[in-house]
Order: sequence, then C-alpha cells, then structure tokens
Amino acid sequence: MIHALQTAEIIAVGSELLTPHRIDTNSLFLTGRLNDVGIVVRGKSVVGDNRDDLAARLRDALSRVDLVITTGGLGPTDDDLTRDVVAEVLDRPMAVNSEIVEAIEARFARRGLRMPAINRRQGNVPQGATVLANVNGTAPGLMLEAGDRLVVLLPGPPREMQPMFDASIAPILEARTGGSRLHRRVLKVNGRSESQVEEVANPIYTRLGNEHVRVQTTILATPGQIELHLESAGRDHEAIARVLDDGIAELAAALGDPVFSVDGRTMEAVVG
Ligand code: AMP
Ligand code: MG
Repeated sequence: MIHALQTAEIIAVGSELLTPHRIDTNSLFLTGRLNDVGIVVRGKSVVGDNRDDLAARLRDALSRVDLVITTGGLGPTDDDLTRDVVAEVLDRPMAVNSEIVEAIEARFARRGLRMPAINRRQGNVPQGATVLANVNGTAPGLMLEAGDRLVVLLPGPPREMQPMFDASIAPILEARTGGSRLHRRVLKVNGRSESQVEEVANPIYTRLGNEHVRVQTTILATPGQIELHLESAGRDHEAIARVLDDGIAELAAALGDPVFSVDGRTMEAVVG
C-alpha cells in the first residue's frame, strides 16, 4: 500500500537566491500546483550552493513531510550539488546513466557543438531514481522513493522546471492523493482593524469543521482591507464545500456591513 501524500516541503537551491538580485519564484509555482491536489506545503526554504546547508535542510524536511521537492543545483558546474547531496543523504550510490549523457551530447550536436566534459555529471543518477525528461534544457530531473517519502529534484530555470513538473510529477501526485484538492473561500472586510475582525470571527472559525473536514483559517491584513481565508484539503468535496460555505455565511452575518466580498472578488469588482 502506497502512503498517501499529504504534506510537502520545498527547498530552493542556489546562492544567487540569497542575494538581492534573484528571487525564488519556483516555490510559488510549486505551492500552487501542490495545493491544487490538496497537498499542504508545511515549509519552504532557500539554501545556497553549500553541501552542509542543503544536507541539513533535506534531513530536516524528510523528518517532517511526505514529499520534498528541490529546485536548482542540477547544472554541470562545481557549484551544482543537489544530485550529490541527495544521493549522500539517502545513502544511494551514484552511477552514470549513458542514455542521459548521449541525449545531452545529441542536444549539443544539434547546435553543431561538442558536449563539454563537465556535462557528463548531469548523467549521474542515484540508485533507484527515476529520470525526468527536460524538454527545455540539459539537466534531467530525478525522483526517488525513500521509505514512505518521495523526493523530487527539479532544475532551477522556471522554463525547464514548470513543464517538467506538469509532465512528469503532476500525474503522479494526482494518483497518490486520490482525488484530494484544496478548497478555499475568501471573505473581505473594509473599514475594520485586524483585531476587530479577529474578535468577532475567532469564536466562529475556531469551531468550524468536524473530524472529517479540517478547516485552516488565515487572517490577512492588506492596506484598507482585512481578508479571512478558510481552507480545507480533502476528497469529500461536497462535505468540504458545505462546511466552508456555511462558515463564510456565518462569518459574514456576524461581521455585518463591513463585509464587501464573500467570493474572493476585489473591491473594484464589487463596486464597478
Ligand atoms: P540552476 O543552474 O539549476 O541552479 O539554476 C540556474 C537558473 O535558474 C538561474 O538563472 C536561476 O536564477 C534560476 N533559478 C534557480 N532557482 C530558482 C528559483 N527558485 N526561482 C526562480 N528562478 C530560479
Ligand atoms: Mg544554481
């Protein structure tokens, strides 16, 4: 029996992401995709191209969640460490996969180039890993089962990472979450402070849900408005929808007039 995937952690690897010049956008894309299939992201982090830091983050993530996804550090250069560190942490010997090397050679040849020797590293595959095709680059992704954990290594460039995730990983996650999805409702309040909203809403949202439907509530203060987000992940879509819709209705009634949106619409959309 395959363990159902419920929780995930994302590790963005790359020293450039720890400077003011580059931002980790991969984790936003991945969080959206994981939420779509009801997987809750329990944490995300950015680590530099550093063996010890990555190994520590990976061990910690593996101790807490079902699915760990890394992006970055799969390139051919010395600072691309993700493959090596994952193999070491999971205690898997590495072997050169000649098909990968040949595919990279062919990719260079199509542009009339000879493959630099350092690209051979990208053909290194930890024992037992599944190789994920990269349609937009040389670095293949990798997927490994480690006990009841799943570890996925994706390339850093978004134009390589995104199609790889959608083609190779999304179908696996869908199968292993059994039709689970994250449902979200958003209620928006105008002209009240966060604590005023909390005072009225807390007694209501803390008792939403039941043993089958768990509701996670977030209060977000943005300039000029307060948002209440109700979320619940699971397979019983009707039951979840009922709990969330009833919750939103009850909150809207209690908060009264300052509520201007119960369906996620913006102030502009409501007024216009
Ligand atoms: P890599 O060689 O796989 O480490 O990644 C190289 C390129 O991907 C760089 O140009 C990065 O800026 C970009 N990149 C890496 N990680 C991320 C990330 N988490 N979000 C957005 N871009 C990234
Ligand atoms: Mg890098």
